[in-house]
Amino acid sequence: MNTQEIRELYDEYVMPTYAQSISVVRGEGARVWDAEGKEYLDFAAGIAVAALGHCHPEVTAAIAAQASRLVHASNLYYTENAPRLARRLSNLSLGGKVFFCNSGAEANEALIKLARLRGAEKGRFEVITMRNSFHGRTLATMTATGQTKYQHGFEPLVPGFRYADFNDLESVRAALTPQTAAVLVEAVQGEGGILPAAYAFIAGLRELCTKNDVLLFFDEVQAGMGRTGKWFAYQHYGIQPDGISMAKALANGLPIGAICVDPKWSDVFSPGKHASTFGGNPVSCAAALATLDVMQRDHLVEHAAEAGARLMEALKSLTVRHPCIQMVRGLGLMIGVVLDRPCRPVADALQAAGMLVIPTGEKVLRLVPPLLIGDNEIAQALSLLDHCLP
Ligand SMILES: *Cc1c(COP(=O)(O)O)cnc(C)c1O
Repeated sequence: MNTQEIRELYDEYVMPTYAQSISVVRGEGARVWDAEGKEYLDFAAGIAVAALGHCHPEVTAAIAAQASRLVHASNLYYTENAPRLARRLSNLSLGGKVFFCNSGAEANEALIKLARLRGAEKGRFEVITMRNSFHGRTLATMTATGQTKYQHGFEPLVPGFRYADFNDLESVRAALTPQTAAVLVEAVQGEGGILPAAYAFIAGLRELCTKNDVLLFFDEVQAGMGRTGKWFAYQHYGIQPDGISMAKALANGLPIGAICVDPKWSDVFSPGKHASTFGGNPVSCAAALATLDVMQRDHLVEHAAEAGARLMEALKSLTVRHPCIQMVRGLGLMIGVVLDRPCRPVADALQAAGMLVIPTGEKVLRLVPPLLIGDNEIAQALSLLDHCLP
């Protein structure tokens, strides 16, 4: 099928929740191709999903091998990949146990349910989230998302959420009540425009939560899995959260979500309290295990820190020739180029020139390339940006 034929099928049969423009039919490394064979340098990476690039041979081999052994069994039986992956994730993060699901929203739902269950006896059920955050599209996570544009028309919202201002500890303090069960925060707001949290804000949150017997959760769905130059973005701040959610890059493209908690909360859920038919699916877990293997062996987290710093410096030097760039911000390979104008036309020009980027917010070009990009890809991206920025 060509792009036009694909588009017509969508128009007739797929609900119009997205506004696509191009087709993608093949991917390899940091490049994808459309149905007409046009090549794109991919600095979107499926929205920070393809951390190892597209169709990484070791991940593809792991998927194929597992798919020919067992695709699905049900969580009513033991399977071997889920606990192996849980051990790896626990050792890389909080040291407690893991629950598996299939997406970022579901992972945040699991954190919210865990906080409510743990707080039930004391009447603690409220979750404080930040304005400008993003936590997903289910009713509860859409309510947790502190941006009215995602909520409009879906009222009534789920009870039990309060909002505070990101990077403003006093506003979190003001939102605390005797019913507060948890605070949920992104260390780097992704959909909010690639905004890193201030060190003092996170340190203050940890202290505030501990003092008030409130759980502190980090949404690591976009910023986790090495993207920011640490395994998880909270690790830039020298604190231990009570729980984290992850998804996007975890299996390099297969659907998976997970939460990991501090050992104190490992057994809050007992049998029957939470579940997911596909959670911990053997094929998704095999892909995640292979993804972790490659990330560790090839030191991709360190590479993300180092390549990200170089890319950010180079982007800053572009401001001399392109004064429309107001600021370059981010952590590791999670970078936002803030313009003084709507960035959609620039993203469209880049796409026409052969480079994919996804705007976040109205004026921020988001750069979240595969973590294994090299000097050539960085140089090509800079030259395309130089060409397409006003
Ligand atoms: C993408 C994202 C989510 C939602 O993940 P889904 O898999 O789309 O449900 C939640 N939180 C953050 C920070 C995200 O970037």
